[in-house]
Amino acid sequence: MKGCSADTWQSFRRQEPTCTRELRALGAGVTSLNVGDRVGIPWLGYTCGECAYCRSGQENLCDRPRFTGYTRDGGFATHLVADARYCFPLGETGDDVAIAPLLCAGLIGWRSLVMAGQGRHLGIFGFGAAGHIIAQVARWQGRLVYAFTREGDLEAQRLAKSLGAEWAGASQEQAPVPLDAAIIFAPIGGLVPLALRAVRKGGRVVCAGIHMSDIPSFPYSILWQERQLVSVANLTRNDGIEFFRVAAQSSIRAHTSVFPLREANEVLSRLRAGQITGAAVLQP
Ligand SMILES: [Zn+2]
Repeated sequence: MKGCSADTWQSFRRQEPTCTRELRALGAGVTSLNVGDRVGIPWLGYTCGECAYCRSGQENLCDRPRFTGYTRDGGFATHLVADARYCFPLGETGDDVAIAPLLCAGLIGWRSLVMAGQGRHLGIFGFGAAGHIIAQVARWQGRLVYAFTREGDLEAQRLAKSLGAEWAGASQEQAPVPLDAAIIFAPIGGLVPLALRAVRKGGRVVCAGIHMSDIPSFPYSILWQERQLVSVANLTRNDGIEFFRVAAQSSIRAHTSVFPLREANEVLSRLRAGQITGAAVLQP
């Protein structure tokens, strides 16, 4: 495999690590990158290139994928070996800490936003790492954003408002207008019926998480009239290229909290408990 090694900064949305740092060495045959380049390594760190999905432009659904920090070593580490095909050149502009969250939360958020369609009124359920990045992209695109948070999470609601959200409230509350689409970033199945009720006829609900608790049963009437319920898995490299172009133009500012790498387990627990606003970044 064509590989390269880099030392790393990590960011993560729940448990999925991604990294940004500079290349220390290149494997034989790697011509697209140079030693010293700053690159980002996303969650989807390898695809086979041979299965039906890879050959049809859906490498995000590859039958034999490998994931950074999960089925590939690295991620929550000081150094890692990466597949050169899955290293995004990041240029030298911008701070590593600010860029790290774009590699995971930003990328999956971007694919979810594209999947949500072009509608003007966009609901975001779960206003954490991905939610607050994608809200900024949606605002930059001229959309109106409605942020749904845990009941009483005034800090997340304030963050949403400060980033230009039209409305922010608890997930159980009703949005002021019927939504064209809603993206669910929180891994809570109970949000699915709430989001379906919030979208208009023909509207779409996008589930962005890798895991979600069970979805409670709901009446067919809230799916009826051509509402759609879809999920998003991983990303293609084209998603990444498009997203970094958009990120540069839209001046996204990730709200980050920085922690030392040795505190990774504790930080993960705090993320699960919803005790971190925005994105967490681990620093080696
Ligand atoms: Zn494949």
